Amino acid sequence: MTQPPLPLIAIDGPSGVGKSTTARRVAERLGWDYLDTGAMYRAASLALLRSGRSLDERGPLETLLAGLDIAQRGTRIFLGGEDISEAIRSQEITTLVTPVSADARVREVLVDQQRRIGASGRWVVDGRDIGTVVFTHACCKVFLTASPEARAQRRFLELQAKGQTPDLAAVMQDLNRRDTADSTRAVAPLRKADDAVELDSSAMTLPQVVDWIVARHGAHP
Ligand code: C5P
Repeated sequence: MTQPPLPLIAIDGPSGVGKSTTARRVAERLGWDYLDTGAMYRAASLALLRSGRSLDERGPLETLLAGLDIAQRGTRIFLGGEDISEAIRSQEITTLVTPVSADARVREVLVDQQRRIGASGRWVVDGRDIGTVVFTHACCKVFLTASPEARAQRRFLELQAKGQTPDLAAVMQDLNRRDTADSTRAVAPLRKADDAVELDSSAMTLPQVVDWIVARHGAHP
């Protein structure tokens, strides 16, 4: 049975393309809610790190997943009520999230939560598998891309703005590593949904990307 289209804008794409900022701004413009699924995988990674357990430990991982209490309020992310918005952006978590998000058991739990959240209301959701797996009947799907150079430059400036002193080559290497892992994993690999529109934002500013998405999809019921 075909499901009616959901009032939900799915924004997928590689790392460092600016999906989260774009999605948040599109949601603000439309008065819709915003869900950052990458933050959920990061929160699960932090929970695993703090538990001292590894992904290979079957029983403990399942217990951990069953008790995962992740919430997003506005742009802040909470784990068991604690604000972990900054903690999940560390390099340690950015490295750990790759194997954690490739684990089918983790994805099953988080995808289930994402579907429950998105089932009512109007949402802008960003991630890697939103249009292909999580919300296949989203009304509007965007696959946001940019050249590796443009993405590395954006991430570099973002880190600098946070007071860090990043190395451009290292930033690019990290983005490449994550893209390769996300695109080649067995479960829910990063790819464009057949019915998604691809937008190459290499030569666009953030406001231009936001305008483009709002103009194309904002009028949807
Ligand atoms: O979007 P962000 O970079 O914060 O996501 C962190 C990681 O979570 C990604 O590198 C990717 O491996 C994973 N992820 C995923 N599926 C999603 C969102 C993120 O596998 N829907």
